[in-house]
Amino acid sequence: MTGILQFMPAEVLPSRDAVLENQGIAPGTVVTKEIDALCRTAIDVLEATAVPVGVMEEISEDDFRGIYDGEGRNEPRTPVADVYMQADHLALFAVTLGKQPEAEIAKRFQSNDFALASMLDAAASAAADRLAGLAEHRYERNLRERGCVTETTGVLRYSPGYCGWDISGQKRLFAFVHPDRIGLILRDSFLMEPLKSVSGLIIAGLRNIHDRPDTYPFCDRCETHGCRKRFRALTK
Ligand code: SF4
Repeated sequence: MTGILQFMPAEVLPSRDAVLENQGIAPGTVVTKEIDALCRTAIDVLEATAVPVGVMEEISEDDFRGIYDGEGRNEPRTPVADVYMQADHLALFAVTLGKQPEAEIAKRFQSNDFALASMLDAAASAAADRLAGLAEHRYERNLRERGCVTETTGVLRYSPGYCGWDISGQKRLFAFVHPDRIGLILRDSFLMEPLKSVSGLIIAGLRNIHDRPDTYPFCDRCETHGCRKRFRALTK
């Protein structure tokens, strides 16, 4: 699967709980009607301004090895290194909400509307994550159509900047995928512009290859242990 992926703005709109969770409010918490209204406004602004789009390139294990090594700054052992060599299929991807949501956030900060700016920032982050999930599902559907998915297949994404895969890995990823085709560029800091974007590797293989222990040396500093939640979601 290769090329540009188009999405509808309505597809990436995050749930109220996902937005509030990015504000540090646990799902199910009762909030004031003012916070509720801010959350709804933020999601409305996103719907009006997001232009979700992505790029994807399948890649062989051999080619990915060179990309993963990147600038030589990865941790000695990482989940992605332990998993990709057991994969059946790999694809690199990058997705973005486009420039406008960020401009809307900046506009609110400049006009001192910090509450809405902050809520919009939380909503855009949740939408970018949702968009990455849609890209993952799109690849899984493509594999299914090609007869490459069985009952035991698990498809999961991994990103530079997380779990020991250094963020400088973005450099070679971008050189392979060419996200400039969708207006997404890489800054010298390896952060993406627009910022509300996600890049990474989608790994498809036996579901259990993704079941990594959360005991890598850097896991001591991890606040979320989100890998466990991601694997549990895969097995539902
Ligand atoms: S515990 Fe945190 S750092 Fe360690 S693998 Fe899981 S998500 Fe990554």
